[in-house]
Amino acid sequence: MSSDKTDDVTTGFEMVVGLEVHVQLKTASKAFCGCSTDFGAPPNRNTCPVCLALPGALPVLNARAVELALRVALGFGFSVNRLSIFARKNYFYPDLPKGYQISQHDQPIAEHGALDIGLIVNGAPRVIGITRAHMEEDAGKSIHDRYESATAVDLNRSGVPLVEIVSEPDMRSPEEAGAYLRTLKQILLYLDVSDCNMEEGSLRVDANVSARPFGQQTLGTKCEVKNMNSFSGVEKALAAEFRRQCGVLLAGGTVQQQTLLWDGHKNETRPARSKEGSSDYRYFPEPDLPPLIITDAELSRVRETLPELPAARRVRYAAMQLSEYDAQELTADPHTGPYFEAVLALHGDAKSVANWVNGEVRATLNETGATWKSAPLVPARLAGLLELLKDGVVSSSAAKKIFAMLLTSAESPRAIAEREGLVQVRDDNALAGWVDEVLAENPAEATRFAAGEKKLVGLLVGLVMKKSQGRADPKLVNQLLASRAAG
Ligand SMILES: [Zn+2]
Repeated sequence: MSSDKTDDVTTGFEMVVGLEVHVQLKTASKAFCGCSTDFGAPPNRNTCPVCLALPGALPVLNARAVELALRVALGFGFSVNRLSIFARKNYFYPDLPKGYQISQHDQPIAEHGALDIGLIVNGAPRVIGITRAHMEEDAGKSIHDRYESATAVDLNRSGVPLVEIVSEPDMRSPEEAGAYLRTLKQILLYLDVSDCNMEEGSLRVDANVSARPFGQQTLGTKCEVKNMNSFSGVEKALAAEFRRQCGVLLAGGTVQQQTLLWDGHKNETRPARSKEGSSDYRYFPEPDLPPLIITDAELSRVRETLPELPAARRVRYAAMQLSEYDAQELTADPHTGPYFEAVLALHGDAKSVANWVNGEVRATLNETGATWKSAPLVPARLAGLLELLKDGVVSSSAAKKIFAMLLTSAESPRAIAEREGLVQVRDDNALAGWVDEVLAENPAEATRFAAGEKKLVGLLVGLVMKKSQGRADPKLVNQLLASRAAG
């Protein structure tokens, strides 16, 4: 990061960041009508009088959207408001046919949370405050590149349910913002409330960033940066915008509050339309929707369906004597852990299973695009392979070869090992034969070895392995040679 350089314009300034994350909830239908939320349908196909804002059409709240919003609130440990109010957020934009967005303002569905982002700074874990999480509907999409001299509007997205999670301005670096976003996304995926696909817009991040001299308590004037389509894009945008603001302050100027768009190609922020203050939205309660009341029964029903979250899973894995690295990797997404545990149930060695799952298996999934549920990788097959390895039937290099073949073969690991001649030879006579041959072919080494030059054992084992075309069990060859030396 640029702040490492001592002659940098950012020296002496502290970055202050708050993030607003829009999460598209994984419902089949929209927030206030029955239209499909499918991504990629032909333009304006998923629309009806409600989401087209035709006169007289009335919204009806989607119960599943509320359930998923509660899942977010309870999963992250936010405090849930038993009564929340939908409000109209008024503004004009071509992709907003109603002229307002249904959102929540004074009384959101959840408030007051905290998120441990897994970083230790100055000896303490970094915990970022969460201001609120509210429900709202998405707007449509303006498409600028379809026609040469006109903008097209697609209202398929109009009315799709979102939860917006707003943090406190607690982050102090691009790295912290990145860690916050990655932690947030990981938990959202565990909660199974959104597919969190940034490219399809189901996770969108707006960043509020300001600069102030170190030691100053009051916040500097913030700018809002939009249009970042990856977490690393957010980190780069924050660094660039912070740098721009520091430059303005150093030159004796003042930062103007504004909305900026991130240009990843030019690596700079540029002004968007001028920022409306929140009073300009003229929020008022949505007269077409009653207040949203959450009952005890609903809360406990949702609470009962919450999954184990990554932090709890890591604790459980640490208790299996797995390293922190292994526990992190196994909990990186919601699916790896269950796969690991299914293999572990069949093959009790946690460390060995973790090594394979985090090593060969993950690498193969990355290369082939297969998933943890792919048939060739069912837990029983990996467990079978690990048993062969543990029993010394195959060597670890042979196990890797067999693993690669599991993907394209329906045979068992043992059948593949036998067909490919990868079963280690452990028969004493065969091994003794190879050892004799090697000693006979290398008389000088044989004599020195017999005279007590123990370090030659490595060379001799290597020669036996070569002679056996890799099939000899090296452990047994070692023992055999040791007994010859002693004799
Ligand atoms: Zn509709």
